[in-house]
Amino acid sequence: MAYRDNTKVIKIGDRVIGGGNPILIQSMTNTPTEDVEATVNQILRLEEAGCEIIRCTVPNEAAAKAIGEIKKKIHIPLVADIHFDYKMAIKAMENGADKIRINPGNIGGEEKLREVVKVAKERQIPIRVGVNSGSLEKELVEKYNGVTAQGIVESALDKVRMIERAGYDNMVVSIKSSDVLMCVQAHELIAKEINYPLHVGITEAGTLISGNIKSSIGLGLILNQGIGDTIRVSLTGDPVEEVKSARIILRTLGLRKGGIEIVSCPTCGRTKIDLIGLANKVETMVSKYEYNIKVAVMGCAVNGPGEAKEADLGVAGGIGEGLIIKKGQIVKKVPEDKLLDALKEELDNWQGK
Ligand code: SF4
Repeated sequence: MAYRDNTKVIKIGDRVIGGGNPILIQSMTNTPTEDVEATVNQILRLEEAGCEIIRCTVPNEAAAKAIGEIKKKIHIPLVADIHFDYKMAIKAMENGADKIRINPGNIGGEEKLREVVKVAKERQIPIRVGVNSGSLEKELVEKYNGVTAQGIVESALDKVRMIERAGYDNMVVSIKSSDVLMCVQAHELIAKEINYPLHVGITEAGTLISGNIKSSIGLGLILNQGIGDTIRVSLTGDPVEEVKSARIILRTLGLRKGGIEIVSCPTCGRTKIDLIGLANKVETMVSKYEYNIKVAVMGCAVNGPGEAKEADLGVAGGIGEGLIIKKGQIVKKVPEDKLLDALKEELDNWQGK
């Protein structure tokens, strides 16, 4: 039985995590939270890409207030990210945050933490306790001769106990490190100590390429051991890319059924259409469909049709045009600039949804 089957069930807005519930995909906005319009627009794009929980930073009162406005226009639970100022945690909850993320070590002591917990308890809002290797306490760095997985876990357990002492156990825990193997080891250790759901991610993972590789390895090793209830792929870039990567990681590990799998060829000298552009657009376009099918995006008229025939739906590129192939049958030939629309039309009318 996987560790995640035994974690505590926690409700975040209208979603449930822990106890073997599906692993949910999170991301974080990079707009100023007080800019309601920009933040809502970004969240709506993320929702469309498959984001299931969104986190927004709440560094000031304007941002805390904006939470209420943002919540009216989005459809997924919102987590308020708090650093240093316990009042922002309280204000964010008063404005409708579905969860708060705090580091109990940096919000001004146990007295202030108790005030935050009191409001969370009244409103039954879960608290995510976040610990990051970059801000590990000096004593723990000294005790373990540097930043180590043991130190990160001890720090996280201290924070968990602080909240438990304040009389609350509606909690999610996250421990992060940009050192992938240290992060994996820390998760293995903490999974043996607590049964709160774990939010898993590799922090400061990097740009699109290094971030995706580090996250895939780190999350892959952690999730495959049955650890992790929610995930975030951290990338330096458009957060929509984080959500796309998270979906692929879950599908690859067999932890997410449903949703379209894209296969695409690597392109070669035979490719005569903008296949790279098309494959990227198709990948984004298909995220809203739940069908458990395979869509092939292939570049050429030599190997393409054969490969595309093995998928449920496919494109095989030609010169300035392409074939749409469905269940092995060529259904039409369309100009290159209409290929995306033609695929979308097929998906909208897909039988056996
Ligand atoms: S499917 Fe065609 S275009 Fe794509 S890599 Fe293979 S031969 Fe090249």
